[in-house]
Amino acid sequence: MNLKQKLKESALELGIELTQKNLDQLWVFKDFLKEYNEKVNLTAIKEDEDIVIKHFLDSLTVLPYVDGKVIDIGTGPGFPGIVLKIVKPCLDITLLDARGKKVKFLEEAAELLNLENITCIHGRAEEISSQKGFSQAFDCAVSRAVGSFENLAKWCLPFVKEDGQFIAMKGPNYEEELEEGKRALRRHGGAEISVQSLTLPQTNLARNLIIIKKSRVL
Ligand code: SAH
Repeated sequence: MNLKQKLKESALELGIELTQKNLDQLWVFKDFLKEYNEKVNLTAIKEDEDIVIKHFLDSLTVLPYVDGKVIDIGTGPGFPGIVLKIVKPCLDITLLDARGKKVKFLEEAAELLNLENITCIHGRAEEISSQKGFSQAFDCAVSRAVGSFENLAKWCLPFVKEDGQFIAMKGPNYEEELEEGKRALRRHGGAEISVQSLTLPQTNLARNLIIIKKSRVL
């Protein structure tokens, strides 16, 4: 089975139907990422199959839970944000990262892919989140591989509107860290916590989406 077919079938297991256009755009993005990564270090994941499964498919696990105005905090080279935008173009998406070289890559990728309604911001979450237009401005914040819940609470929840949600994408061992971060999450308005556990299709990799609903604005 070729890799496009493998991604298509794996995504279906997540309930996501990828169109030919989605696949073609993801491939353009993959090739651009690989080419850019030779000059500027963006990701340690370099093989096609790893990019497709560990970056693309993994990013898609959160797709069924996001809608509206979304911010991806610590997006790096666009995970999950660019993948979400390619597959669900109606999302109004903001990609934020503290590293300028990654934001420059994202801007070039967005242009290459003709993506609209996408904003790339260079800055630290804890500084940007108090600014007008960012503070409590998003229906949904997402973050993959960025920090502990203690830090994520401070960095991500301030972006989220009342009744919006923050989703942390975690691997297998999140419980202890979540326990340690619960107080910080509550302090920043995160009230209800639910967990969606899954195995990344066609792998044995355990993934957990920690969904934190913001029910009061402090
Ligand atoms: N989400 C991507 C990248 C993870 S690496 C992925 O899953 O592949 C973590 C990224 O978070 C890095 O690109 C780093 O620059 C960014 N980052 C770390 N702390 C940050 C902060 N306080 N504000 C914004 N970005 C931050």
